[in-house]
Amino acid sequence: MESTDIQTTRVVQTFESCEGGRIYQIPLEVFPGFWAFSYLVLVEDPKLGKFCVLIDAGSGYGKSNQHLEKGFKEASQLIGTQVDLADLSHIFITHGHIDHFGGLMYVRPKTSALLGVHELDRRVLINYEERLTLVSNRLDEFLIEAGISPHQRKLILDLYSITKGLVRSMPIDFTYEAIGMRLGPFEFKHVPGHCAGHVVIRLHDVLFSGDHVLEGISPHQAPERLTLSTGLDHYLNSLEVLRPWAKEVRLTLPGHKTHISDLQVRLNEIQDLHHSRLDQVLEILKEPGTIADISDRLFGEVQGYNILLALEEAGAHVEYLYQRGFLKIANLEQMKYGKGGVAIHYQKI
Ligand SMILES: [Zn+2]
Ligand SMILES: [Zn+2]
Repeated sequence: MESTDIQTTRVVQTFESCEGGRIYQIPLEVFPGFWAFSYLVLVEDPKLGKFCVLIDAGSGYGKSNQHLEKGFKEASQLIGTQVDLADLSHIFITHGHIDHFGGLMYVRPKTSALLGVHELDRRVLINYEERLTLVSNRLDEFLIEAGISPHQRKLILDLYSITKGLVRSMPIDFTYEAIGMRLGPFEFKHVPGHCAGHVVIRLHDVLFSGDHVLEGISPHQAPERLTLSTGLDHYLNSLEVLRPWAKEVRLTLPGHKTHISDLQVRLNEIQDLHHSRLDQVLEILKEPGTIADISDRLFGEVQGYNILLALEEAGAHVEYLYQRGFLKIANLEQMKYGKGGVAIHYQKI
């Protein structure tokens, strides 16, 4: 956790693409003590036209909207002319997680900018309430099988619903595949894994990586059984999908943390981390254990929402190994007669 001093002095940072695209990185406190970036991007292309784009919109929670407005003011000073939400031509959402799109509730009434999202996260935005219910139910089942007590399960599900209950469904204007994964000078690449409809966005020699690639932390993984097109298998494939661009881009601007100057190195590091975590899980499961046991061994004692994040991360690795036949269920007899309410004990084959 960083000190309040650092948090209050966070300022807009400026970057430029090789062909003169101007980028303003706006820091937002999306949840207490948890920061993310929105990006204001200005491009004037003689052939393709003029673009004033917002990439991601923060959470809409706490100070997030306030920080977005403050960021626009600071960016306006740096630009030398006033730029408001009303001036936006487009809003691109990198992926359907609340810390990246929750702020749309605040932003959209203030602008007629066209809103884009990938096909596989479209339903998250346009049918949010349904998704919330569906995932809560799947999460409950996952937590039972992971070996979580009824009391703790309720606490975790309540936490999940509280943060997510702040957003409502909203219409969108376009999806990336429908427009050929390109809009003016911007190119999109679908990188499912961390989120089903995650895209990275390229402008000239700059890449906006959302949460697909982060510096200093491996992007969160959850088992695919909770949401199709997520999970470690998709994620590891999507790291490879990014290799051709990784050779070409000079600068990677992420959704959190700090920018990445060597994307190829970072892709290697994240791949290595997951492979060594898979080895660790296999080592732990020489003796039978639940996903909760594995989470404890991998991450130690965690609090609040991090309990869920740690369980999902452990679950994603177990799912990957189980699907490939490296694990078996050690308490199959108990499961046969337990009618679904039984914690699964996995074991290395
Ligand atoms: Zn995310
Ligand atoms: Zn995020």
